[in-house]
Amino acid sequence: MRRKIAAGNWKMNTLLNEGVTLAEELNTLLDGIELYDDKRVVIAVPYTHISSIINVVDYKKIAVAAQNCSQFDNGAYTGEISALMLKSIGVQYIIVGHSERRQIFGETDDIVSQKLTQCYKNAIFPILCCGESLNERESVKHLEIVGTQIKNALQNVDTFNIQRTIIAYEPIWAIGTGRTATPEQAQEMHAHIRNTIADLYTKEIANEITILYGGSVNAANSANLFAKEDIDGGLVGGASLKVNEFMQIIESL
Ligand code: PEP
Repeated sequence: MRRKIAAGNWKMNTLLNEGVTLAEELNTLLDGIELYDDKRVVIAVPYTHISSIINVVDYKKIAVAAQNCSQFDNGAYTGEISALMLKSIGVQYIIVGHSERRQIFGETDDIVSQKLTQCYKNAIFPILCCGESLNERESVKHLEIVGTQIKNALQNVDTFNIQRTIIAYEPIWAIGTGRTATPEQAQEMHAHIRNTIADLYTKEIANEITILYGGSVNAANSANLFAKEDIDGGLVGGASLKVNEFMQIIESL
């Protein structure tokens, strides 16, 4: 089902006590807000914080996500965390294929595809990230690059599981840079992603997919971005660490 989602990605920020306080504050601020099934607030917090935060937030208002998972089931993979482990502590969403994981940790489209499989096996909603570099945009290859990322990631995804997938378009040049895609640039890419899904599956399925925009979303630009026809909300990094600003972004949904 296509939903409006404001998802915060805390990345490797906050100590446990700070993270719990931030989540509690957000939970309190959301008291006055009606969130129906078609609108969701998600926070992707560090692994170390997940259990504590799940205990202090109202699951009807805030879904807790992980920022990554292993592509493997279990076994001799020192330092890894499986999707099943995350499921066992109440995680509902996992960010998969964030550009920081692709660029810094060498995640390929194939690894991203295996991580998606792990999410589906464990009934977790993946938030699949895609996005082009500045160089790729400047050489006008951005539509092709993102289309290929989507096709590669979805290579093993059937019509049932695609409907449980959230996509986040995050141009790499806009992440953490303060430089946001214009609403028109973002809309162009979101429409392209939706058309790519329509080609791979059906137009009806493509219309039901939630596609988020990420890249320097803040309280000042979120409403204009979210007003675009194919933009169903945001994946928000830096601004999700400031509770009042994140609330304004949620309100602009
Ligand atoms: C992100 O981490 O996915 C992100 C979009 O970060 P920021 O909002 O800080 O650009």
